[in-house]
Amino acid sequence: MHTQMLINGQLVAGEGPAWTVLDPAAGTALAQISEASEAQVDSAVRAADSAFASWSQTSPKDRSLALLALADAIEQHGEELASLESQNCGKPLAAALNDEIPAIVDVFRYFAGAARCLGSSAAGEYLPGHTSMVRRDPLGVVASIAPWNYPLMMLAWKIAPALAAGNTVVLKPSELTPLTALRLAELAREIFPAGVLNILFGRGATVGTPLVTHPRVRMVSLTGSIPTGANIIGATAASVKRMHMELGGKAPVLIFDDADLDAAVDGIRSFGFYNAGQDCTAACRLYVQDAIYDEFVERLGQAVASIKPGPQGAADTELGPLISAQHRDKVAGMVQRALDQPHIRLVTGGKVLEGAGFFYTPTLLADVLQDDEIARHEVFGPVVTVTRFADEAQALEWANDSEYGLASSVWTTDVGRAHRLAARLQYGCTWINTHFMLISEMPHGGQKQSGYGKDMSMYGLEDYSCVRHVMFKH
Ligand code: NAD
Repeated sequence: MHTQMLINGQLVAGEGPAWTVLDPAAGTALAQISEASEAQVDSAVRAADSAFASWSQTSPKDRSLALLALADAIEQHGEELASLESQNCGKPLAAALNDEIPAIVDVFRYFAGAARCLGSSAAGEYLPGHTSMVRRDPLGVVASIAPWNYPLMMLAWKIAPALAAGNTVVLKPSELTPLTALRLAELAREIFPAGVLNILFGRGATVGTPLVTHPRVRMVSLTGSIPTGANIIGATAASVKRMHMELGGKAPVLIFDDADLDAAVDGIRSFGFYNAGQDCTAACRLYVQDAIYDEFVERLGQAVASIKPGPQGAADTELGPLISAQHRDKVAGMVQRALDQPHIRLVTGGKVLEGAGFFYTPTLLADVLQDDEIARHEVFGPVVTVTRFADEAQALEWANDSEYGLASSVWTTDVGRAHRLAARLQYGCTWINTHFMLISEMPHGGQKQSGYGKDMSMYGLEDYSCVRHVMFKH
């Protein structure tokens, strides 16, 4: 097991207190890892700051080659990394290996290409006797803070654009799921000059706070919950750092009576429960039109009841555990409070699974109303709610009536309606007749309290650079 951090090109053990990393499917310890001390956080930021002078001046071609080399290394070690990820998150091994590793490799390859294409508007004479030009330049040290749901993929989304743009990075994975980041530290050490990429281990309060508030950090990039985002924005306000916030979600899914019902049932079975619903875009808040409501709920209930929970390595496992006992109890508590409401109907699930690990049964709740807690707040578990609506205007109003603004989908065969709603939904993404699909070329990110800044795409690369004006007097 690789438990060392990467600071200034050296693999080092943490000098802070030890933390136990668990296998959530078995509930047993995988490793004891010591956190970074405050002095080590400071060393990592200073190393990144020193490395910035030369890394920011490397050619896009050289940065591109380094990212391609890292992509190759991840691909070569794909089975090992997928196995670590699956053990540490509890997720099915096949999903980590066949879905996540290729997508992670692709993100590095995409940004390797994008690094060579970052442009800005052409020069011109806007003041007589002067030529103006616009540059895009890197920012300095980026502090990147990642969550536990897709640890290596979130790492890729953060470090690939930041390094491609010429910044240096200090990354902190979630204390619950550090294993793939620590293994990647070893692979990256062979590729990047010392200090360009540093990887720390530790909790938010002990390592995250000193990292994001460090005076030499110029940008903070977080993927995490809304309270953590608000906390970091507050803690860094006085030092006015650039922020990139990818926060929680509560995706509305609008299913109209003209939709292809087979596709909608299949889609929600997959996209509501992938990664045990621990996904910021999970198709979790369904609005279903009157005429198809009863049939849809019945068919979806049967489909959801057929989802197979199990251990990571079993060939037929579709659903892993929740990440921790604490998170499972939070999910169970939210479902229980929902069921305490007399109008909410449990269609299937609603139970903690007995035995080892932190499993919760795939759950469908029907007849949920717009103001119920379970429809308003992120559950981040295998729980989907269904609310009945009468017409398009009502569905749109309820979908937008939310503090979240990350992802949404519309299921209809009416092209005009699909366009009308896509233009009016206040979410970073709207899918039509699908959900959940992300690709490296397209931006991912939220609005409202789901945050700001884009992951992936040229927009992601731009976020990690600043626009500058240079003027020449003739
Ligand atoms: P979290 O906010 O608890 O933790 C995220 C990271 O922040 C962890 O590494 C944690 O150690 C760190 N952290 C916590 N407090 C900190 C502080 N004060 N200063 C610095 N760092 C701190 O989130 P989580 O439970 O790991 O992840 C789940 C959340 O992430 C959900 O809300 C989910 O929607 C969100 N998420 C969003 C996206 C997206 O693309 N928008 C993607 C994945 C997950």
